[in-house]
Amino acid sequence: MSGDTYDLIVIGGGINGAGIARDAVGRGLSVLLVEADDLASHTSSSSTKLIHGGLRYLEQYEFKLVAKALSEREVLLKMAPHIIWPMRFVLPHQKHLRPAWMIRTGLFLYDHLGGKQTLANSHGIKFSGHPAGAPLKAAFTKGFVYSDAWVQDARLVVLNCMDAADRGARIMTRTRAETATRSSDGWQVTLKTCDGETSEVRARGLVNAAGPWAVRFLDDIASQNHPYALRLIKGSHIVVERLFAHDYAYIFQQPDGRIVFAIPERDFTLIGTTDVEHQGAPGKVAIDADEIAYLCEAINRYFERPIGPEDVVWSYSGVRPLLDDHEDNASEITRDYRIQLDTAGGAPLLNVFGGKLTTYRRLAEDAVDQLAPALGHREKAWTHSGHPLPGGDDANPQQLVASLQSRYPFVPSPMATRLVFNYGTRALTILGQAERLDDLGEHFGADLYAAAEVDYLRAHEWARTAEDILWRRTKLVLRLDDSEQRRLADYLAASAANTEEEKA
Ligand SMILES: Cc1cc2nc3c(=O)[nH]c(=O)nc-3n(C[C@H](O)[C@H](O)[C@H](O)COP(=O)(O)OP(=O)(O)OC[C@H]3O[C@@H](n4cnc5c(N)ncnc54)[C@H](O)[C@@H]3O)c2cc1C
Repeated sequence: MSGDTYDLIVIGGGINGAGIARDAVGRGLSVLLVEADDLASHTSSSSTKLIHGGLRYLEQYEFKLVAKALSEREVLLKMAPHIIWPMRFVLPHQKHLRPAWMIRTGLFLYDHLGGKQTLANSHGIKFSGHPAGAPLKAAFTKGFVYSDAWVQDARLVVLNCMDAADRGARIMTRTRAETATRSSDGWQVTLKTCDGETSEVRARGLVNAAGPWAVRFLDDIASQNHPYALRLIKGSHIVVERLFAHDYAYIFQQPDGRIVFAIPERDFTLIGTTDVEHQGAPGKVAIDADEIAYLCEAINRYFERPIGPEDVVWSYSGVRPLLDDHEDNASEITRDYRIQLDTAGGAPLLNVFGGKLTTYRRLAEDAVDQLAPALGHREKAWTHSGHPLPGGDDANPQQLVASLQSRYPFVPSPMATRLVFNYGTRALTILGQAERLDDLGEHFGADLYAAAEVDYLRAHEWARTAEDILWRRTKLVLRLDDSEQRRLADYLAASAANTEEEKA
């Protein structure tokens, strides 16, 4: 490893680093991506998980951002139909918050700004007799329905890295860039793994996709002068037992002008988010009591059955790394991204600031469009069509569930569905030659088995710990109890020790 030379080193294995690594290696650049923790362990697994235009950004006149995001929604739905799928959103009408004409106009724009769309258009609804009306207070009699999409956020990152690796990129997780020294012809980067091993690598160009750490990276690791400041805006979500029994999500307008989503996730409802200025270290974020109270109140304004802090079974928080545009109100700071290529100070340095999961592919394309010529590469952008992410090569996951069940009749239906909507066609690789559930290895709880899924995740998706698997790769965290989680952790530790022994 020490002494290896690449065209490009990408710092950060969140969605932006992963997207750039994939795009760059696909254009013929040799690429190393380094991630200090697990892939997607920070902002990119703490999102509301929407691939969306951002209805509320219309009010901030961010038409360009909304149009870009809506057209990306179509591209991403095709690229990864197994981890991104359409969702219908219900907006109960409250005329004192926003008049009906304003919402109708906004939704009309939302249906059309992105160009040709495959998702259903918006329309008005009456709640009486409509499934979405059931959990609402009787005062809400009508509203609107519109389309957006839902994404398995952390898996989007992992699949971009898998595809990048399949195309020749090197992905190193749990490896921090400790120093980055720039000269006229390249970068020398010192890497340190979580086991304390250090190595030196070189590259002709460097991408700073460190998300909330992007400015710290410039200040402390790369020692570069720059004019940038980030605002770190914490957003938290709570998870409660299922509040309604249908597939619609809700978008609830709040008296402070913000919106809060209530999204169905199988037996649970995901509620978020908040917008709170964050001053501490980016890695240390957690929900506070005020945020829990805010989210419960936001729900209690609409649903008949109230919730309180005691109903929260899980919560998570992340920080949005937003470029400081001197806006007072945290929810009004632009969510659009900024990329900046600096070639004046020596070898190329590309900085990424802000952005959304939804626009990551465009961001990556813009970044490599700028960077590749500076490295003498002229290959054209390629990620916009016809190149699905791993497992996304079957456009009809529902049909895939059916064919998986006919090939593996012993797999229970919920498990078949979960595998397909996590791994797409790669679910077949996971099940392999199995003829019965016993062939899938040790059973950890829920429908997680060792020889099938866990070993696959270790071998192909850089998973090392129980948290990597339960929280970011499978979202099974709420379905395994403490002792089952400990057994998984023990299994992973033993497997890692065996691998070390085999290497020695
Ligand atoms: C609460 C919330 C809700 C959101 N909801 C949505 C949504 O619904 N839809 C949407 O489109 N967007 C949403 N977003 C925005 C989206 O999540 C972010 O824009 C995106 O995840 C940012 O990705 P990133 O790669 O820039 O940062 P990150 O995911 O944080 O990745 C940066 C990585 O760099 C690594 N790193 C830092 N320093 C080093 C170093 N020295 N060496 C090696 N690695 C390093 C970090 O460990 C980190 O993993 C939301 C954001 C938040 C916070």
